[in-house]
Amino acid sequence: MRRLSRAHALPAVGTLVNQPAYRLLQERYPRPLVVEAIRERLEAEREAGGGQGGSGGGDSPPLEGERLAAVEARLAGWTAPRLRRVINATGVILHTNLGRAPLSAAAVAAVQEAAAGYGNLELDLKTGRRGERAALVSELLCRLAGAEAGLAVNNNAAAVLLALAALARGREVVVSRGQLVEIGGSFRMPDVMRLSGARMVEVGTTNRTRAADYEEAVGPRTAALLRVHTSNFRVTGFTESASLEEMAAVARRHQLLLLDDLGSGALEAVQGGNGGGRDPRSGSPGRRDGGSPPLFDEPTVAESVRLADVVTFSGDKLLGGPQAGVVVGRAEPVARMAKHALARAVRVDKLSLAALEATLRQRLLGHAADVPVERMLLMAPKEIRRRAGFWLVKLADRGVPTRLLEGQSAVGGGSLPGHGLPTVLLALEGPASRLAAALREGEPPVVARVEADLCCLDPRTVLKGEDETLVDAVEAAYKTVVG
Ligand SMILES: *Cc1c(COP(=O)(O)O)cnc(C)c1O
Repeated sequence: MRRLSRAHALPAVGTLVNQPAYRLLQERYPRPLVVEAIRERLEAEREAGGGQGGSGGGDSPPLEGERLAAVEARLAGWTAPRLRRVINATGVILHTNLGRAPLSAAAVAAVQEAAAGYGNLELDLKTGRRGERAALVSELLCRLAGAEAGLAVNNNAAAVLLALAALARGREVVVSRGQLVEIGGSFRMPDVMRLSGARMVEVGTTNRTRAADYEEAVGPRTAALLRVHTSNFRVTGFTESASLEEMAAVARRHQLLLLDDLGSGALEAVQGGNGGGRDPRSGSPGRRDGGSPPLFDEPTVAESVRLADVVTFSGDKLLGGPQAGVVVGRAEPVARMAKHALARAVRVDKLSLAALEATLRQRLLGHAADVPVERMLLMAPKEIRRRAGFWLVKLADRGVPTRLLEGQSAVGGGSLPGHGLPTVLLALEGPASRLAAALREGEPPVVARVEADLCCLDPRTVLKGEDETLVDAVEAAYKTVVG
């Protein structure tokens, strides 16, 4: 009974929407959206009123201003941008939850150019005939990887799926039990294998697989051997795995394909140099001179291409480009992949292709230092310390107490597990998880790392030009939490 009488007291949606204040809202939001927001608000009022039972408290209608503000807040919430720029202060360079690799300025410019107009995506400008979008990067890929053929698809999971479907459907693929990886939640090798229509034959054990294990598993239905880079974990202790050389020998003997899912795709060994401190302005990656030992023990694409028939890796891991799956290898199997029906379903979009092409060109020209991922990997300890010190001084001026700590950055994104890069962290004084939450909810959001009960910020992953914004955001967050 009360419900009914209260509902009766509420104004009609149609009356409200024509009132001046709600008309004003319609200059910013379409009328049907305003109507929907009013309807939901009135519904909430009705429910709130009904929920109060027989007590008299709920009977006075909410103030008109309060209702208007609630409707406006609803509209603002519905239309606020969800995908937002954040500052990555975690020190994890390829942070999957933060979108992995930030693009270089050249790649961003290429995306903008491709996005705003038409392009020769599938048109051969010489002949006027239809062209292949994937061909736009294949030459660059071949030259960089020393491969016969190259192909770009939507992401590396798609590249692996396409390779298995095109080259091994209805047949067997031999893979080590130590390499049945799960990457980023839903990429599980056994599932991908099943989806592709290939049958997985597991060999060896979690910690040891020898060349002879592959050899014994080969039968009349075997199509390929697959190596999967165990990108996000390390098995240590009593371990053994067949080298790619040994696998290639088995594959050759039995005329099988050798597929190598590299995952992160370092084009060349990342050279450590003098503390990773090469001059970023020199433009030269300074790698092939062999002057310094590699920074990581990571298989390179070029090494892999020499031995495997098909090599796959991500565009947005160590390559430092957009989300994409990169395929390089021998001409015949790569062509079979390009022609497969699935290739159309997993094709790369034109914006990613533009960014990928720009990133590959930078690498070919020796401008790798302009690729943010590369810059972060090689950031000199001196520079990191200088930036953390700058933050500390700025924040101290504004009454925010912090201190510097030695710590480790991580490559992340399933690249180089267990490999930390020495860094200097700025630790905030105060309740760590509340500070981290306030930073996350600030404007712009800052993602920090909570370590040893301290809210820490790592300069390595904070991009050029973000320092001042970061300092402002930290000050604001600190004052919200501590006062
Ligand atoms: C990251 C990774 C993948 C998945 O790549 P996406 O580009 O995220 O689809 C597949 N295999 C390996 C070994 C990886 O490291």
